[in-house]
Amino acid sequence: MQYISTRGKMNKENFSEILLGGLAPDGGLTIPEKYPYFSKEKLTELSKLNYQDLAFEILSLFADDIPANDLRKIIDKSYSAEIFCNSRNPEKATEITPITKIDNTLFIQELSNGPTLAFKDMAMQFLGNVFEYVLTSRNEKINILGATSGDTGSAAEYAMKGKNAVNVFMLSPAGKMSPFQRAQMYSLQDKNIHNIAVKSMFDACQDLVKSVNKNAEFKEKYKIGAVNSINWGRIAAQIVYYFKGYFAVAENVGEAVDFCVPSGNFGNVCAGHIAKQMGLPIHRLIVATNENDVLDEFFKTGKYSPRKDEDTYQTSSPSMDISKASNLERFVFDLLARSSDKLRDLWEKVENGGEFELDAQTLNAMHEKYGFVSGKSTHAERINAIGDVYSKYQIFIDTHTADGFVVAQKLRDKNTKTIVLETAAAAKFEENIVEATGKKPPRPKHLENIESLPTKVETIEPDIKVLMDYIERNSL
Ligand SMILES: *Cc1c(COP(=O)(O)O)cnc(C)c1O
Repeated sequence: MQYISTRGKMNKENFSEILLGGLAPDGGLTIPEKYPYFSKEKLTELSKLNYQDLAFEILSLFADDIPANDLRKIIDKSYSAEIFCNSRNPEKATEITPITKIDNTLFIQELSNGPTLAFKDMAMQFLGNVFEYVLTSRNEKINILGATSGDTGSAAEYAMKGKNAVNVFMLSPAGKMSPFQRAQMYSLQDKNIHNIAVKSMFDACQDLVKSVNKNAEFKEKYKIGAVNSINWGRIAAQIVYYFKGYFAVAENVGEAVDFCVPSGNFGNVCAGHIAKQMGLPIHRLIVATNENDVLDEFFKTGKYSPRKDEDTYQTSSPSMDISKASNLERFVFDLLARSSDKLRDLWEKVENGGEFELDAQTLNAMHEKYGFVSGKSTHAERINAIGDVYSKYQIFIDTHTADGFVVAQKLRDKNTKTIVLETAAAAKFEENIVEATGKKPPRPKHLENIESLPTKVETIEPDIKVLMDYIERNSL
């Protein structure tokens, strides 16, 4: 499969070539030249497969330059019941993304059973193994530099720890993450994982990463890379669980099923969009946001108006607190019938701090042809939903999944099955669960005492020289 850029000015490249890059050289996002398409007969075959076999069938189309035997090994290593072991139904762990039935037509699909209890593991585990494979076979290495306010950094570290040819430098705001999140990251003792606590806020961490990336010479010399949410490998890996979820609830291939997706950077639901384009009979993709509603506004009105960083609210679903949705460009490219010229016009406005609005016909296609609708939730609604789900079904859901729940309740058609994607486990957001239910959610046994484990972390001032010096001393 060949990949192109949404902005139309990149030479075609294969999977291994685009995997390690961030933005395409023309500033766009990489995307398959053409999506594969499954016939109904093929879908029926796929519906009988387990997670690993299904992942192989799908990912071998996107990563067709990796020999089949090697890809198979990478997939088996990434998606094992030992790694995705944190299900609320331990007997269903082999399903990797088990489904819980709430009522006749409402389901939740667990994507949060990996090492860091958030859906980011679904893609990062694959990325870690495929990075190691591609780097080792090309005799290259990478120093991943990132900033995290919690979830992404820990998922990246758990995926990359102990890997050859990969080093991770992860900046986090000192003292600002939850004790659980801190413990999760800082307790890693692996030599290739470098936790750097910056005596400042998350924004300062992100600014430091940006400054390092602006220094082309340093970046080249130390092979600085990233694993942020625009990485194509992450999107590709996420396509798989839409197929798995669909097959688990549909009585026959062809039945319409809706997905409701708690969204921030639009990476998760972008994978759902691609699954639909590949022939999976998804009827609607329901985008759920919190108070940071830039996506809800877009899907309702066709106006995309990224917020300023200082206008981003801190909410009880922090992994969705975004001011702009970095993956949206991939969907809009499809929506514009893949016209790079039109896309560049729109994104020029965005990059100059402005906004754009779709015409009526395109807005209509977004709803009718592509099946997108959206809604949002408030803190009170999420807390209510957590309490409600607990008292009715004795299930703990987290604040992000609760957002999906609230929006699904508002928008679902009770005659159509709806799957709410569970993007984090309740144990990760203990305080809010106590607020909603008066009870502490259960924690996986092996994480019970995580806060008392020894830690490995370097604390620095928010100073670019100090950071660069640290990278120089510790890079691969
Ligand atoms: C990252 C994240 C999201 C948002 O996903 P996007 O792909 O950025 O839209 C939602 N919930 C949780 C728990 C997350 O970690």
